[in-house]
Amino acid sequence: MKKNITIVGAGLAGSLCALYLTKRGHNVSIFERRNDLRSEIITAGKSINLALSERGLTALKKVGVEAEVMNIAIAMDKRIMHDEKGNLTEQLYGNDGQAIYSVSRAQLNVLMMKLAAKNGADLYFNEKCIDANLEDASVIFENTNTNQKQTVKSDLIIGADGAFSAVRKQMVEQYDHDFDYNKIDHDYKELHIPAGKNGSFLLDKNALHIWPRGEFMLIALANLDGSFTCTLFAPKKGEKSFEGLNSEIEVENYFSAIFPDFLNLVPDLYKQWIANPTSGLGIIKTFPWHIKDTAVLIGDSAHATVPFYGQGMNASLEDCRMLDELLDKHGEDLKSCFSEYSITRKPNGDGLQDLSMQNFIVMRDNTADPTFLLQKEIEKKFSNLYPEKWIPLYSMVSFTNIPYADAWKIGMKQEKMMEEIMKIKNIEKEWESDVIMNKMCSLV
Ligand SMILES: Cc1cc2nc3c(=O)[nH]c(=O)nc-3n(C[C@H](O)[C@H](O)[C@H](O)COP(=O)(O)OP(=O)(O)OC[C@H]3O[C@@H](n4cnc5c(N)ncnc54)[C@H](O)[C@@H]3O)c2cc1C
Repeated sequence: MKKNITIVGAGLAGSLCALYLTKRGHNVSIFERRNDLRSEIITAGKSINLALSERGLTALKKVGVEAEVMNIAIAMDKRIMHDEKGNLTEQLYGNDGQAIYSVSRAQLNVLMMKLAAKNGADLYFNEKCIDANLEDASVIFENTNTNQKQTVKSDLIIGADGAFSAVRKQMVEQYDHDFDYNKIDHDYKELHIPAGKNGSFLLDKNALHIWPRGEFMLIALANLDGSFTCTLFAPKKGEKSFEGLNSEIEVENYFSAIFPDFLNLVPDLYKQWIANPTSGLGIIKTFPWHIKDTAVLIGDSAHATVPFYGQGMNASLEDCRMLDELLDKHGEDLKSCFSEYSITRKPNGDGLQDLSMQNFIVMRDNTADPTFLLQKEIEKKFSNLYPEKWIPLYSMVSFTNIPYADAWKIGMKQEKMMEEIMKIKNIEKEWESDVIMNKMCSLV
């Protein structure tokens, strides 16, 4: 039966969900707190970049919009690590042709909103959700320009309003749902490498660039206009933290000592440093993700995570696909559909968060470690010989739709096994021999 559905939040999850639901023939209205981004000029490089990978692409493909998204994406088939002297090391992410994709969050969001509207969704902007009666499926919005309030009554509320979700707040306050917000000790700041002459790229555009430095790191992803959007992740306090980076000289000294090749690419570093905010990062856990058959959470509102696996958006898009599959399974029985969604999806939200925290250590620390890089080479060789026995963790997460919870469990088992392998005497010389491959076969 055709339903009237209110989606709160026109971000990536909200817009994709609208596409899925309008394709099912429902009347969908999206209410968004911000201005209409579609009417603003989005210049590449002025928004954060996201790494889009297989799960996100699978969810886009299912509603037929993958090709349009690929038009604004840049393939990254490898990491390139920059050491303190500016030397580069490459590590392919997977096998030939396997890549993740750099997309501008704003450009992708505009595209997704346009596609949702084209498919029949109604979009309302400057409408902030301030309250909701979740069992009655009614939401109160306040217009951010006029302060005028309106109550919107429908059959179903979808909370797609991000990490600080107002819909989730009502679930937690009115229904005593579990809630936990864990801020990490690191903040981040966006920086920007401009394009070179005639829009040329000053670094390899088909790579995710990392400057791994133990407790902190800098990353850069390419934009279509030749520039790169970069993010510095560093501790809030202590040695070499944001705390000590206030004056121009402090910032210049920090970058020239730690990221010298980066400094050469950014002529107006200090101007950017003071103009761009320093923002926090955290993990949000909540449960359940629904109320009866009248309200459900998707995306960051249900499982916001730290960005180190580049999976927050991918998981949010995957939520929409999973919900769509469960709508097929349960038909009109929305209560069972949402209940199964909450129960089956929550462990994957947890898995995503565990993976994200673990990959912070991999990126900032391990990618600069030759033993880690060797371990990854061994895993790759074994996986190519015995693909049915071993998919490397990064590939499970980024190049398959294996549930996050399963990937996390298998990855931990693999790590234990690799600890044994890496202890073998002369492993750096012997690793390509049959002995090592046979040993791995016996352990797996
Ligand atoms: C620095 C950084 C880097 C990241 N990199 C990656 C990456 O490489 N790959 C990846 O997959 N993910 C990445 N992520 C995560 C990704 O950005 C999020 O997981 C994704 O945006 C979640 O989508 P969403 O639609 O659930 O939430 P959002 O994108 O936050 O959208 C929520 C929408 O709801 C609106 N809203 C909020 N409150 C209200 C309200 N009260 N009323 C009405 N509207 C409201 C907001 O304005 C917004 O438009 C990164 C995140 C950060 C911070």
